[in-house]
Amino acid sequence: MNARDNCIFCKIVRGTIPAHKVCEDEHTLAFMDVSPASPGHTLVISKAHAANLLEIAEADLLAVARTTQRVARAIHKALAPDGLRIGQFNGAAAGQTVLHYHVHIVPMQEGQRTGAHGRTPGDPEELKALASRIREVLQD
Ligand code: 5GP
Ligand code: ZN
Repeated sequence: MNARDNCIFCKIVRGTIPAHKVCEDEHTLAFMDVSPASPGHTLVISKAHAANLLEIAEADLLAVARTTQRVARAIHKALAPDGLRIGQFNGAAAGQTVLHYHVHIVPMQEGQRTGAHGRTPGDPEELKALASRIREVLQD
């Protein structure tokens, strides 16, 4: 058994567990974080499994960066946040809980306190609606 077999994000890539997808290309996938730090919190992953920044192949890293900018622009247009927090964690000690490279895009409002991610499940209908609003901008 290798790291991919039990990896939750690899399962999303394979389609064996569901996600509210925002966009997808050959190398990357973006979908709503199931327990968002704020409304619109989106994750961008490489389709190829790599645990973190230290392990990911350069081509996949660049592909994730490209998709992150594309999705960040779409979130900015769709949801008009005051700011966007972009981040990622490497290793459990740094707060990484899913050991498959991913970038968080967290819309922020003026005066908003730092929200914790991965704590409180979002409302499935709201996640679905937000994904749809972001997708619409991407399809324009
Ligand atoms: P990190 O590893 O950077 O701390 O964060 C992992 C993120 O993945 C968390 O914000 C968490 O809510 C999210 N997450 C964990 N499992 C799933 C899942 O099955 N589906 C989705 N869409 N997000 C997940
Ligand atoms: Zn994986």
